[in-house]
Amino acid sequence: MSIEITGVSKRFGDFVALDDVSVSIPSGGLTALLGPSGGGKSTLLRIIAGLETADTGRVQIEGVDATNLSPQKRNVGFVFQHYAAFKHLSVARNVAFGLEIRKKPKAEIRERVDELLKLVHLSQFADRLPAQLSGGQRQRMALARALAVQPSVLLLDEPFGALDAKVRKELRDWLRRLHDEVHVTTVFVTHDQEEALEVADEIVVINEGRVEQIGSPDELYDRPANDFVMRFLGPVT
Ligand code: ADP
Ligand code: MG
Repeated sequence: MSIEITGVSKRFGDFVALDDVSVSIPSGGLTALLGPSGGGKSTLLRIIAGLETADTGRVQIEGVDATNLSPQKRNVGFVFQHYAAFKHLSVARNVAFGLEIRKKPKAEIRERVDELLKLVHLSQFADRLPAQLSGGQRQRMALARALAVQPSVLLLDEPFGALDAKVRKELRDWLRRLHDEVHVTTVFVTHDQEEALEVADEIVVINEGRVEQIGSPDELYDRPANDFVMRFLGPVT
């Protein structure tokens, strides 16, 4: 089981954002889509989520052909760089939102939200408003909200990009720990080599709409497939 992307291409006008991308993302792993800005990482993530339609190719999620499915039917959780919280709802209700619109029983919602807030260490903030949280706490709330509906896949687009270096590092460790606890198949976009190398089990290097290499951090570091990967991962001088 996995996310199978086969022959996916995407153009915006004459610009080729993704050029015949095929990649297999392992189930239950923490995978980074890594590459320089403008390389097509977000476009690929959005195609996996069903937020964007590929011109050609197919997307399979955990054995199901998802190519023509809506984002809801794909059962994916999404976290963006700039988290759009409901400002007038408490932290707990923000986390509960996906369950409320699915009309889950109230007791079940309460239990699940308690569990999730505990998981991201925000129990004591349940009744606050999102504006009363720090940037890092807000992204932890976003993680809890994305996990609430028990997605089969968790997708994150530069989730920590807007935060300062210290909080970024904290959240990085958070994502790793959270993943080790819930084991949901997770794919996150980053342009930060260190972030990918430190956090991910598997890295997909994407540049100019093509996959340059797929491998574990060790594999990429020890055996870069080409000059691009070597230069991109190489020590900063
Ligand atoms: P990355 O996430 O790797 O920085 P993106 O996938 O966001 O790259 O974008 C790849 C390229 O496609 C960029 O040059 C971007 O300007 C272009 N692009 C992305 N989305 C659109 C869009 N909706 N319309 C036009 N161009 C787009
Ligand atoms: Mg992007």
